[in-house]
Amino acid sequence: MQPLATKFHELFGSDPNIIATAPGRVNLIGEHVDFLDGFVLPFAISDVTTVAIAKNSSGKIRTASIQKKGAISTIESTQLKPKSGEAWTRYPVGVIWALGIDSGLDILIDGHVPLGAGLSSSAALECAVATAINELFNLGLALPELSRAAQRAENVYVGMPCGIMDQSVSLMATEGNALLLDTRDLSTEQIPFDIAPLGLELLVIDTQVHHALVDGGYAERRASCEKAIADLNIKSLRDISIADFVSRRNKLDDKTYLRAFHGVTEMKRVLDAVTLLKTGDFVGFGEIVTAAHISLRDNYTVSCPELNLAVDTALKFGALGSRMIGGGFGGSAIALIKAKDSELVKSEIRSEFMKARFKGPRFFSALPSAGAKVIL
Ligand code: ADP
Ligand code: MG
Repeated sequence: MQPLATKFHELFGSDPNIIATAPGRVNLIGEHVDFLDGFVLPFAISDVTTVAIAKNSSGKIRTASIQKKGAISTIESTQLKPKSGEAWTRYPVGVIWALGIDSGLDILIDGHVPLGAGLSSSAALECAVATAINELFNLGLALPELSRAAQRAENVYVGMPCGIMDQSVSLMATEGNALLLDTRDLSTEQIPFDIAPLGLELLVIDTQVHHALVDGGYAERRASCEKAIADLNIKSLRDISIADFVSRRNKLDDKTYLRAFHGVTEMKRVLDAVTLLKTGDFVGFGEIVTAAHISLRDNYTVSCPELNLAVDTALKFGALGSRMIGGGFGGSAIALIKAKDSELVKSEIRSEFMKARFKGPRFFSALPSAGAKVIL
């Protein structure tokens, strides 16, 4: 029997009707553009969140997580209200709300995506629930619709204004590939990123720093991009070329210009990176990844000393490319390295962090893996 099914039985006294998994992700390139109709290039990692669900006839939704010591949190299925209930339960319950389900349910979650490390444990959780509910209630929703429902859960029910990338890749990823996602229409293309046979490794460096700026800083930069769109009187930063944008600099204040400049150039970097990957040019690809870091650091200004030190040290010790990922002001960086250099790069980063008196970093190795699936 599935280990989670056994735990489910111990907790709720019945067997689950369904078990589904969904992965976390890393984003190779296309940072802070998924709310700007931009392109992004994430892949799913092999760490997944698993959810077991059974219908019950009590009219109550009972939710528990192994990571929350299995304590059961209960809510009436007719009384789902955005931003209500215990904070972590808003992710799974929000998905049930977004999918319009009104039924008693027992839910047990077991997450193996590191929480809060920028690997999107939140989307893994939402997408595991969305996949299970879609199957259990025969909703017949296609992956883009499920993705939008999971995003709506996080935007409205949790109250976090995230873009559509994390949910899309958690649902649509395939093994060995990165997912080129057009966040305007959710069209996708699978881009080969099978790096292990080439002797390459994608190292994730979690600085374990969580600066208080994160939420306010994210919203404020998003607002700058929206101001640029308004000031330039365009529909989207997607619709303006770099040359055109630069030529209209005098229409924008400096801060707005630099932040929006990141968005406009980042969208081009994603497409250039895809072209290079298609020809197997990982050196050129790495250079674009590093250029993205410089733009995030200097134009969008969401980096921090810990992230910069991780990136600089990885590059110094042979990384083909490296950049901060995610919201910024902490969280993780990625580095594309030769697998044989892995121990060297990690020990050099550890020792540089010690010298700078930073908290010790955590390391993960990420390989492009499959998206969400029903496993029982
Ligand atoms: P990230 O998505 O980068 O990991 P977030 O802050 O967006 O970070 O999401 C993390 C939050 O998601 C946790 O604080 C918790 O509320 C919820 N969460 C994720 N996985 C689990 C889990 N396995 N059990 C309970 N809550 C979880
Ligand atoms: Mg998240």
